[in-house]
Amino acid sequence: MIDDRNGNCDYADRPRGAVVYYNHSGTTESAKATCLGILAACACYLGWTVVIHIDIWFLINDLASTLTLVPVYAGMLFVHEIIHAIFAKHVSKAAKVWLQGWERGTVIVRAKGLVLREKYVLELLAPFALLSFAMPAIVVLFVPEFGWIALFVAVFNALSSGGDVQSAWAALTRCPAGALVDGDGDEAYWVPETTKATAACAGSP
Ligand SMILES: [Zn+2]
Repeated sequence: MIDDRNGNCDYADRPRGAVVYYNHSGTTESAKATCLGILAACACYLGWTVVIHIDIWFLINDLASTLTLVPVYAGMLFVHEIIHAIFAKHVSKAAKVWLQGWERGTVIVRAKGLVLREKYVLELLAPFALLSFAMPAIVVLFVPEFGWIALFVAVFNALSSGGDVQSAWAALTRCPAGALVDGDGDEAYWVPETTKATAACAGSP
């Protein structure tokens, strides 16, 4: 359905009839994303501490162990973005996926090209699901001695996923099912599924 997006389109052009459904710039949206991240992190911490026992005093007294969390945190941010990139390329099948680099305090992956709303939501939520739920579950089952690192990654990944959850919620509640979505700058928009690549390629009338 979206294979024909791989033509020689100028993806900087917004398709005709595009409906902007979300603008994630501005302090209100940033504050909402931060609150969602904090809520997700608290829920993640409370949930995982039922099965992962950490000794806070051990971390305070053992500086060497605590310092290992610095590269773990940087690695987590990178892996989070790589998961977005893999899903953007192989699930959403966005026409262009690239590593933007350091932006707004974190590493950012960008994707461009109309994709199915449902796949876009998967692309947004995949790092949250994989790093805050699937990965700790695997660690608890197979290498429980590293549970404290898994808990750290799960909680800080949840904290970093506030914007993703917010974008996914906006796509699910403000776009019709089966719509094609994309964005430029801080704005996200949708077009009817029937718009296809011809409209996207046409650019200005
Ligand atoms: Zn993300």
